[in-house]
Amino acid sequence: MNDYRWIQYETVDEGSIAFITLNRPKQRNAQSRGLLVELDDAFAEAERDDKVRVVVLRGAGPVFSSGHDLGSSDSRAEREPGPDQHPSFQGWGGTMEGYESFWRQEYEFFYANTKRWRELRKITIASVHGAVYSAALMLMWACDLIVADETATFADVVAARLGMPGVEYFAHPWELGPRRAKELLLTGDYMDAHTAYEIGMVNRVFPAGTLEESTLAFARRIAQVETVAALLVKDSVNQMQDAQGFTPALNAAFTLHELGHAHWMATNAIAGRGPFPALIPKDGLWTSSAILPRSKDRPSAEEPA
Ligand code: ZN
Repeated sequence: MNDYRWIQYETVDEGSIAFITLNRPKQRNAQSRGLLVELDDAFAEAERDDKVRVVVLRGAGPVFSSGHDLGSSDSRAEREPGPDQHPSFQGWGGTMEGYESFWRQEYEFFYANTKRWRELRKITIASVHGAVYSAALMLMWACDLIVADETATFADVVAARLGMPGVEYFAHPWELGPRRAKELLLTGDYMDAHTAYEIGMVNRVFPAGTLEESTLAFARRIAQVETVAALLVKDSVNQMQDAQGFTPALNAAFTLHELGHAHWMATNAIAGRGPFPALIPKDGLWTSSAILPRSKDRPSAEEPA
């Protein structure tokens, strides 16, 4: 078994259920390159192991994940040349020039890996709590089933704060519906767990404090399904979505996402600003304005009707 630094991998019930735990709680499980590469290895390990029937993805600490790590000291060190640079920056486009490098790296480590996890030959369950922001949505959406506790909140602030249309794996319209996808992306507001349940994005909302035991009970139930039947269900639904255009739509949106990055890099190079329009990260935590709850009857949670 691999020796992981940023995640934990363990199996229970005679190996039939694998738990992959994002384990950077101090950085709110912000997704560094090291974490993402280890996560890919862990999914591959679960796929290799014929005893594993169900894979649960969860986060240690107060939140599931705050998104991509854009600014912690670990994340900066693994990007910059030197002894602590992550080896993945020495390939997959990482040594190439200009925007090509950024594009190829995003493709490998934010997009192709997420699509690969969607196609994992096991049933996957995301078990989420607290903040599930931006790139955290990608991890969650790639899973077959999603369970939450009532503390979970969901937002993609990439459009409102960073100037791209949303995160790289653009499943938003499929998960939220087109109208709500546009609204949540344009406002950056968050949606609560009960609303996520009502629109069919999550399968269960457990009371706070019961997520771990309830997730295990749910995973045990799913692990009872014959493996061939489970995989046929998964592929039938995923192939239905593909026939509807899911994967081509995601490919197109990824290209537009890269257009957004290219715009900001070109514009900011002229203006002498950083790579994004609004970002002041501190140890992986957003420090710009608060992410507000979505309101049904007010323009903004901060304003009266
Ligand atoms: Zn990006």
